[in-house]
Amino acid sequence: MLGVIYSLPLANKEVSYMYIRRFKAIRVLAIGITALCTLFTAEASAKLQVVTTFSQDASIVSAIGAGFIEVVSLTNGLQDPHAVEPKPSLAAHLNRADLLIVNGQQMELAWLPAALAAVGNPRIQEGGEGYLNASAGVRLIPYTTEELEGTQFVPFLDKDSNHHQIGNHHFWLDPANGLIIARNVYRKLAEIDPANDWIYKLNYESFTARLTEKMKDWDALMVMFRGVKIVSYHRDWIYLTNRHGLEIVAYIEPRETIPPSAGDAARLIKLVKDEDIPLILISPWQPQRASREIARQSGAKVLSLPSAVDSRLGTRDYIQLFDVIYTQLSRALFGTQIGTQS
Ligand SMILES: [Zn+2]
Repeated sequence: MLGVIYSLPLANKEVSYMYIRRFKAIRVLAIGITALCTLFTAEASAKLQVVTTFSQDASIVSAIGAGFIEVVSLTNGLQDPHAVEPKPSLAAHLNRADLLIVNGQQMELAWLPAALAAVGNPRIQEGGEGYLNASAGVRLIPYTTEELEGTQFVPFLDKDSNHHQIGNHHFWLDPANGLIIARNVYRKLAEIDPANDWIYKLNYESFTARLTEKMKDWDALMVMFRGVKIVSYHRDWIYLTNRHGLEIVAYIEPRETIPPSAGDAARLIKLVKDEDIPLILISPWQPQRASREIARQSGAKVLSLPSAVDSRLGTRDYIQLFDVIYTQLSRALFGTQIGTQS
């Protein structure tokens, strides 16, 4: 018993040392947590403010800058990308931005230059450190002179040749171009925020690996539709159809953004009938009536495919967008029996 009593102080001493060690450890941990909290608070407030003109670029930059940036898209996936109604919030977002990502190829011509001229943020002006043209390095499909005549894009025509200062601006609709956009975005983030380059690189590699893997499935799915002829309302699906060897034989819009006349519609109905074209492609932001009427009178089907992130259920990011596009497109092509004819 004595021994036990005697031994108690010793035991207590050990216990108290243990507590002191634990207390010190807890204090160190607490200091560490406080420091981390301070750091994270500082980082949260110091997150790069990224503004994109369109939702597909918002999706790509969100994937690469995850956790280190805050992203706002100036448009949603259902708006006509050529003609955006400027809102007061647009200037506020641009004034706060550290980085502006534009689609380029004059897609934003009708609204962005005026908005940029009105904001006092030199960093995100064209040529500034915080300005990125997503189309850099993309192999663009050229517009012909006829396709742009009478449109807002005339100032970018080279009258002496077909080498215009503008290429088809719907290039994000080939997922392979998504890889180029992602590379542009990664390089720009690393340039303006080199301290976090390593994390941007990891995210970039993860995004491109996922997209590349998906592209194998999508390409395999589309192989059987090579050579199928279709009609498209706008010149937006040509990157996708070129990728998979589908042929767009006509556009419902006679020229970029110009709606068809009654004569154009009559010619198209005849063409669709004569060539037995099974499918007309449109996007949700385009006027639906003309296409549906041409389809009704010619016997073709109309398929409205989402062309932008967040334009339809299940299209919350760039990869999901293509999952929906390919699912719906392949189903529609199967539905026209084309897949079983060869
Ligand atoms: Zn267009």
